[in-house]
Amino acid sequence: MALKVYIFKNNKELTTKTYNQLLTILNDKGFEVVEDESSSPDLYVCIGGDGTFLSFVHKLDFPSKPIIGINTGHLGFFQESMPDNMANIIDDFLSGDYKIQTLKPVEAIIETKKESFIRIGVNELMIRGPLSHVTQFSVEIEKTKIEDFSGDGLLISTPAGSTAYNYSLGGSLVAPELDLLQITPVAPMNTNAYRCFHSSVLLPGNETITITGIGRMAEGTIILSFDGKTHEFKNVKRIRIRQSKKQLQLIRFSDYDYWDTLAKKLL
Ligand code: NAP
Repeated sequence: MALKVYIFKNNKELTTKTYNQLLTILNDKGFEVVEDESSSPDLYVCIGGDGTFLSFVHKLDFPSKPIIGINTGHLGFFQESMPDNMANIIDDFLSGDYKIQTLKPVEAIIETKKESFIRIGVNELMIRGPLSHVTQFSVEIEKTKIEDFSGDGLLISTPAGSTAYNYSLGGSLVAPELDLLQITPVAPMNTNAYRCFHSSVLLPGNETITITGIGRMAEGTIILSFDGKTHEFKNVKRIRIRQSKKQLQLIRFSDYDYWDTLAKKLL
């Protein structure tokens, strides 16, 4: 039976050209290209930049089947394969000549007085207060309080997200196979009342961070951004942050070299 492929793409000219070439390759190799995302595809292909990849995984609610990223954007940390190499990578896929890189997103469980909500980020979650106010949070890892944070906010990034917003904030770059979460402070302040870390804190991937509003933030309005999308929550009692059970399987071909990608794209 033919393998089913679902293709997600942005609307850029290069993407459309790449998409048409890919359709020809997939038809020649006997794949069935499906247009309905609910028709249980065996494989996903995402054409665009890293931003398109993020839109894809959120729109399809973190699909569990393997994903090939074709880069027609700027950076290409998720989207590592180039359009001119598509025929080769489809052959490699068919012959099993690839590795799976598992991406473990980060999730926040936001508990308000009446209900709770879950938001998930592949790159990161950012927690802050209403705009232009200093934010004050008590931060626990597992059952231990580590700080009373005061500043603009806290960013909790996955290894995959370490090259994104986290990096701009001075956080560490993390090899993708490391299993951890990284808390990076945004403009931390140290005063008599609040003492907090100025560096990033890295914790094992199986541990939970609990954030509670204190001081002005005890009123409970927080702004939570996940991969660039933003929601405001009112009457928040606490936020628990941990790795999500939803995982993504990104296909990496034999010439994939994380350190080479890092040096070429970020320096
Ligand atoms: P966007 O336009 O979708 O993305 C903004 C930029 O971030 C694009 O250049 C994108 O690359 C790049 N990017 C996305 N994920 C990346 C990753 N894992 N590693 C390296 N670069 C990555 O903007 P958006 O919708 O507002 O937010 C998407 C992401 O942008 C967020 O998850 C956040 O990490 C990042 N962001 C960064 C800053 C900052 O650095 N000051 C501020 C806000 C948001 P492509 O060009 O290939 O799409």
